[in-house]
Formats: sequence, C-alpha cells, structure tokens
Amino acid sequence: MRVTKMYAPTLREVPSEAEIASHQLLLRAGFMRKSTNGMYTYLPLAWRVIKKIEAIIREEMDNKGAQEIMMPIMQPAEIWQESGRWGAYGAEMIRLKDRHGHEYCLGPTHEEMVTTVVKNDVRSYRQLPLNLYQIQDKFRDERRPRFGLMRSRDFIMKDAYSFDRDEAGLEESYQEMYDAYTKIFTRCGLNFRPVEADSGAIGGSGSHEFMVLAESGEAEIVYCSACDYAADVEKAELHTISAPEEAELPMEKVVTPDCKTIADVCAYLQAPVDHSMKAVAFQSEKGLILCFVRGDHEVNEIKVINTVGVSEVEMAEPELLAKAGTVGGYMGPVGMDPKKVIIVVDQSVMQMHNICCGANEEGYHYINVNPGRDFTPTYVADIRLMAEGDPCPHCGAAVKKARGIEVGQVFKLFTKYSQAMHATYLDENGKEQPMVMGCYGIGVGRTMAAAVEQNNDKDGMIWPAAIAPYHVLVVPVNVKDEASNAKAEEIYQTLQKAGLEVVIDDRKERPGVKFKDADLIGYPLRVVVGPKTLTTGELEVKVRRTGEVKMLPLDSDYASALKEMLHSL
Ligand code: ATP
Ligand code: MG
Repeated sequence: MRVTKMYAPTLREVPSEAEIASHQLLLRAGFMRKSTNGMYTYLPLAWRVIKKIEAIIREEMDNKGAQEIMMPIMQPAEIWQESGRWGAYGAEMIRLKDRHGHEYCLGPTHEEMVTTVVKNDVRSYRQLPLNLYQIQDKFRDERRPRFGLMRSRDFIMKDAYSFDRDEAGLEESYQEMYDAYTKIFTRCGLNFRPVEADSGAIGGSGSHEFMVLAESGEAEIVYCSACDYAADVEKAELHTISAPEEAELPMEKVVTPDCKTIADVCAYLQAPVDHSMKAVAFQSEKGLILCFVRGDHEVNEIKVINTVGVSEVEMAEPELLAKAGTVGGYMGPVGMDPKKVIIVVDQSVMQMHNICCGANEEGYHYINVNPGRDFTPTYVADIRLMAEGDPCPHCGAAVKKARGIEVGQVFKLFTKYSQAMHATYLDENGKEQPMVMGCYGIGVGRTMAAAVEQNNDKDGMIWPAAIAPYHVLVVPVNVKDEASNAKAEEIYQTLQKAGLEVVIDDRKERPGVKFKDADLIGYPLRVVVGPKTLTTGELEVKVRRTGEVKMLPLDSDYASALKEMLHSL
C-alpha cells in the first residue's frame, strides 16, 4: 500500500464529543467516521484491524468445534413474544414493520432466532452438543451512545450459542468458550481479567465478563489482592456485617436543620456513621422503591433491580416522594406505608441498633430507630455496593477496585429459552428433554477500541502486531534523492514479497510530517531510508512501542529480522 493511495483522511481537530483516547485517535488517524449518533463507518485501516480480530476469533472458535453460520439481522416479533422478551427488552430494541404490517426488530442479540433454527431440526441426543456462532452487526438503541465504538447503536458482535443434553454438557461448553475467550484476548495483545458477572436481563445465572483493564472503562470491578477472585462490582456479593449488641433506646424525633447529607446529620447529632442509615429512592414499573444502607455504604442499583424484580430503575422524582409522604434528604423507613412504597433494607442494617435516619419531614430525623421494632422492610437483601478494602468473599483479604471495558461475556442460560420456546430433544430412553443452552458474545469494535485505550501515548496509537492494520511503514526521507528513493521502493517490494504487510510513505512531504503520521497511525515498525542508508549500508528500524532503534545491514535477510521483531510486539 502506498500512502498516496491510502484512504485514511486524518483530522487536525477532533470533535469535542470524543472524550476518550480511542474515540479521538480512531477519528484523528482516519480509521473511522461517524455516520449518525452511535453509528460509524469503518474506513480501510479500521476495517483491516476488525478483520484481524475476527480472524483470531474464528480460529479460536473453530478450534473448539464451534461452527459459523449467519442469521438474518431482522427478526420477527413472534419469536420474541414466544420467549417473553418482546415486551421486556424495552426501548433498547429497534422495532419496525414491513409493508404487510408485520412487526420485526433489528437483532440486539440472537437467542430467540438461533433457538428457533435449532429446535426445528434437532430431534435426538445424537445431534448434541452443538455450538453455532456468527459475526454480525447488532442493533441496540442505547440510552447514551458514547465513546465511539465502545457504546454504539450499530456494532459488530460475535455471538455464539451452545446446545447441550444436560448441565454437565453445558459446564463443558462453557469452559471451552471461557478458554477460547482467554486465548482470543491474549492473542489480541490485551491486558484483561475474566470476572464474575451479573447475568442481567438476558437471564440464567453463572456468567463471566472479560474486562480489559483501562481507566476509561465504564465498568467497575473488584479484585482480590490475595486470591484470584474478581467480580463486576454490580455482582460482588457481600456478607452481613454484624454489630455489637446494644440495649434498644426509645425512638425520638429530633430537629436537624440544614442537615441534608449523612455527614451533616452525623456531625450535628454527634452520631457515629455506623449508627446512621442512608436512603436512596428509585422509581420503577412497580412504583417507588426506598432503599436503605448503612450511612457509610453505597447502594448497588443492580442488586436492587434483582431483589425487587423490576427491569430498570431511575432516581425518583421529588413529586413521587411527596406523594408517598417523604422528602429528599430526610427519607426514612419509619411510618412508611408498605402498600404504597417498596422498602428494601440492606442485610447489615438489620443488625444495627439505635440508628439515626430521616423522619420523612424537612428538617427532622429520628434517633434510636431499631429495625424490626420501628419499621418492617418489604425486602431484606444484600443491596450494598462493594467498596475498596471490603473483605474478599473467597478469602477475606482486602479487595481493590479497578475500571474495565467489557469486551466479552459468557453466560449459562440453562433452559430459559429452550423451555419457553419448546426446544427439546429425545434422550437415550426416548424421553423428551429441554436443551441446555449457553451464549457467548464478543464486541469486535469494542475490542478494537479497547486495544487503543490500552496502547497509546501522546503521539498516537501503538498497535499490538497481531491486530495492527499494517506491520511496517517504509519512509523515504529525502524526496529529492532519487537513489535512496529507489532503494526505499526496492525494500518495500522485498518486504511485501516476504509476506509482511507494508506501507510506503511516497508522499512529497517533509520527514517530520511523515514521522508524525506514522506515530499517529501506530505502525509497529518504521523503516527509514535516506542517503545515509546507502552510505552506511544499514537500515534504521524504529519500534513504535519502545522507541528503540535497531540497525539492520542492507545485505542481510532484513525481512526475516523484521518478522522476528514483530513476534515480540
Ligand atoms: P454492556 O453492559 O456494556 O451494555 P452487555 O452486557 O449489554 O454490555 P452483551 O449483551 O453481553 O453486552 O453483548 C456482548 C458484547 O457485545 C459485550 O461484551 C460488548 O463487548 C459488546 N457490546 C454490547 N453492547 C455494545 C454497544 N452498545 N456497543 C459496542 N459493543 C457492545
Ligand atoms: Mg448493554
């Protein structure tokens, strides 16, 4: 490829909406362009990276015996009604009608479709296990598309679905996919961690997310400093904290002027924070949910959603609070009508004594509130968000927090879809059994973006060799010097013949301009050819990642030497 021919329009100014490195750099270096909100066109450089990631995925999936198929993007409403998700999927699903008025969606995922395909043809235990996958555009009308390819509305996903005879089979399929994912992300050159995950709306239990560790990640993970425990903070389970026994004192209503936060209240009442309770109010399809945790703890929204059994929650509007007889800043469980409000109390709060909390009236709190005696929760559950320093649920050592980008997820679905959709087979005894399923997704575009997040510096991207759009850039540095330009051309041809993916910067530009672009695009290796190359008989090779410069004799097998260098990048 010649730079004069390459379609990679660079930008001097990056749109301000591009907040993170991958979004900025992919736009600046001419890898992609925004088509509309949350939708991008992949230009040639990005598409080369995508194809390489896909090739790695295909190889590792095929190695595990998974077979590639391609299902339609547009799916009929009926199959989603059959599984019960047509309603449940909500606003994230893009819905449309054909000319006959039949309803469809643009696939956000394909459990329904693949289950329909398989159930019509698979009858016997002899046809199982089966693992089918595809690599295809998915559509999700995300509430907040952002960060470029990280959270877009049209994105490329590898989605795989396993069908087994029983749970033991699923266990095996799941482990195979877990291992395949580990290989895929390792080969892509990513620093990642598989973590225990919340299984979310997709259903089932037993799931891992593959998290690329990066500051810009949207997900928060906790990991143990001593053992290999790691979990999505949304999922991380916490044990009940017990509190020492205390005599229950009589409850009292006290004035607390201008005390809106826990810190204010505790300071004003001189109450220790572990005798205080924090309230968070959500609204949901089941109405108002008031959540209570210890004053120094945080509420985990996902745990609340799972506890109450709602599809999503939002912060409650003040009018809704007023209607329920309370007010922001002074919410408490005492006197709340459980017929009007859902009261969710963290398990550790139930152990506490003589608590201070809001009195549901502006400027007032209660002190010496005792759970059981003074209020009755609708649900008692673990609804706390794990914090840095909390004990690891496996070994008790202090946990640490990090941010991560979820590039893939593996789920055990068990018989959620096969039961709802009647996907059964006949076992050895001729008895009808539901197929036991798993599903496995990888965000291909997000993986590319995550690679940039982890591999960049002030000058641009630094591609891991395995997924770099090209391996080597040859830079003729003196456009007026015909002899060295001819040499550069010869080297370019030699490298190409040796099977390297090579680009020559044949523009009539100053070396500085060429070097800048080379760094921005992030070619793993850069070869400089100038008059000096001919006099010394040596090629100057610069490694993008380390900045290290290596001289290779022109009369040596420099192509093999470059290949060798790429192996370690
Ligand atoms: P998230 O929690 O980030 O929304 P998810 O749990 O909804 O992800 P899955 O349904 O498991 O995602 O999809 C499989 C993979 O597809 C994810 O691991 C992620 O890499 C990718 N993915 C999901 N949503 C998007 C999106 N809006 N844009 C780009 N990639 C996405
Ligand atoms: Mg999502």
